[in-house]
Amino acid sequence: MTVVVVGAGISGLACARELVDAGIPARIVERSQQVGGRLASEWLGGRWVDTGAAYLTADDPAFLGRLQTWRIDGLARPWTDTLRGQQGAATLRWAAPGGLRSLAVDLARELEISLNTEISALPSAVEAVVLAMPGPEAQRIVDMPAAAEQVWSPVVTAILTYARRAWKDFDGAFVNDHPVLATVCDDGARRGDRAPVLVAHSTGAFAESTTDPGPAMAKAVGELLEIGDEPAVTIRRWPYASPRAGHGLFARHGNVYLCGDAFGKPRVQTAWLSGRAAARAIISEH
Ligand SMILES: Cc1cc2nc3c(=O)[nH]c(=O)nc-3n(C[C@H](O)[C@H](O)[C@H](O)COP(=O)(O)OP(=O)(O)OC[C@H]3O[C@@H](n4cnc5c(N)ncnc54)[C@H](O)[C@@H]3O)c2cc1C
Repeated sequence: MTVVVVGAGISGLACARELVDAGIPARIVERSQQVGGRLASEWLGGRWVDTGAAYLTADDPAFLGRLQTWRIDGLARPWTDTLRGQQGAATLRWAAPGGLRSLAVDLARELEISLNTEISALPSAVEAVVLAMPGPEAQRIVDMPAAAEQVWSPVVTAILTYARRAWKDFDGAFVNDHPVLATVCDDGARRGDRAPVLVAHSTGAFAESTTDPGPAMAKAVGELLEIGDEPAVTIRRWPYASPRAGHGLFARHGNVYLCGDAFGKPRVQTAWLSGRAAARAIISEH
């Protein structure tokens, strides 16, 4: 049998890995030129910057084991359990010295992946198709109730590069009840190179309402951290950044499976567990 996995984000990669490890041929098709999806890092100014997910957290033993293996391999490291403005118990956040996308690249090793290939209809002559992506994107390929009912918010990422580190040391901050900002992280702290780079994520409402987010986000970060210097600003948009938390591990409609971070809290861990669970369902059936 052959399985086609559409999407090389963490859920698609986890799914294909599980299938291939069980001896089931799986091929990934990805529309962009690289793997990782929202587990995104970009080479900017001579270093990696995390532009999608800010860090990883784990409360599932299997995903924690995955993180520990990446730690042994030097790809991930515990970063911080203290973010300004955090509510609730301290939570260990993990970062990656080579950018979080390096973890996706590691999962992708030896998998068969066609990049730069956008799927607009279900592939034929395959036993199963896994749509490993946000529901609204899956809906463009096939109408599936579980995809149609997902609710998503956008986020704008602002990468702010300064001439020097002109702020008091901090790792990151939740900016509660702010009209523009949701979080700000010190990318130099999480990478470990102390580069003068901050990465801010907007609120969903701000992302929806603005066409020119850079100036307002830079101003808001300057006010929050009392920085007088002007940064260079790079903007990235995530139209489907964050789903409303859903239930179950994945959805199935005939031989089409839908997985991703909408099946639980919208986190990398959820996406990884969801992709793995879809693969296990396919394995147990065949
Ligand atoms: C700004 C931001 C901040 C975040 N912060 C955190 C955080 O701090 N911690 C955390 O745990 N999580 C965070 N997340 C969430 C985390 O990034 C996601 O949970 C996770 O990466 C989702 O993985 P996925 O595989 O489900 O989906 P995606 O990463 O979205 O992967 C889907 C893939 O499918 C591809 N694709 C879509 N349609 C097609 C098509 N038609 N044909 C071919 N390919 C297609 C896409 O190009 C993409 O590569 C954040 C996300 C964003 C955007």
